[in-house]
Amino acid sequence: MNQAPYTPGQPEKKRTGTELARELTYDVTQDQISQAAETLGKIRPAYAPLIEFYSQVFMAQALSRSGINQEPIIIDPAVLELKRENEMPLISPDQFNIDPASAETLMDKICRLAVAHAPQLAQAGEDLAGLLSGNGKEKLDLDALFSALLDSRDITGIADQSGISVEALGFFGFSAMAPSIQANAAQLGTYLKEMPEMGKGYCPVCGSQPDLSFLDDSGKRRACCSLCSHIWETRRMGCMFCDSTDREDQHYFFSDEEPEFRVYCCDRCGHYLKTVDTRQMGRRFFPRLEQVTTLHLDIQAKEKGYEKPGEISR
Ligand SMILES: [Zn+2]
Ligand SMILES: [Zn+2]
Repeated sequence: MNQAPYTPGQPEKKRTGTELARELTYDVTQDQISQAAETLGKIRPAYAPLIEFYSQVFMAQALSRSGINQEPIIIDPAVLELKRENEMPLISPDQFNIDPASAETLMDKICRLAVAHAPQLAQAGEDLAGLLSGNGKEKLDLDALFSALLDSRDITGIADQSGISVEALGFFGFSAMAPSIQANAAQLGTYLKEMPEMGKGYCPVCGSQPDLSFLDDSGKRRACCSLCSHIWETRRMGCMFCDSTDREDQHYFFSDEEPEFRVYCCDRCGHYLKTVDTRQMGRRFFPRLEQVTTLHLDIQAKEKGYEKPGEISR
């Protein structure tokens, strides 16, 4: 059995955001994902089918990461200085370098996983796999899809032409790009070494919003980027999206079944964020898996009238 790299109760060790992202996402092995899926399946039996599907997707992504072929992203020192002074992220999402060959292979694999394990995505997966192989129809322009998704452009045209919904294209597209994006983010992390933690509500690498935050061993609050999975330290109190620290605006709720999770909601900007105290988990923490197995908390937050920041089909 592998030594757990990040378990509650370990002596504190100062880790950079990129080191943490490596431990919790980028370098997680197929075995570790499989073990975590098994543990979570026992704790949240209602999620068993979803855990089966997503763990297979994450394992396919882990395998794909080892074969990524891409150029590093180079940032000019003068540009870097400017970004540091203005508290800007290192790049914008459209600057991620996607390895087209490995992304296409991975997309095909995820389509097949959807057919086998995800009833709601099965038809889209089958249609998309057909389009990728050019099966008697015009081949899907993956470059166009990837760049539109990264640029947050409307993909209705691509959806209409392919007969696959915007949501499904977003899911398959971002899932296929994830290994390339994460490899870029890990490489870009070296530029952040000398920079102070900004503690903002956006990712210091790519500027995207977090989809989860957590309290680490020492009680520091960290946010996980919804796009590149980078991890950064953020403010402990108040809303990280609108910076409000007014107690009147800040609320949280939790469910008795997952006392380690709290959903922080802000009345000032109307956003919410799921936060997990990893010191209370008693199991290995894999942000991506925890994110998809707490969708009931997202539903509750939305029922209360709060929204995920920058909610797009990701
Ligand atoms: Zn990011
Ligand atoms: Zn707010």
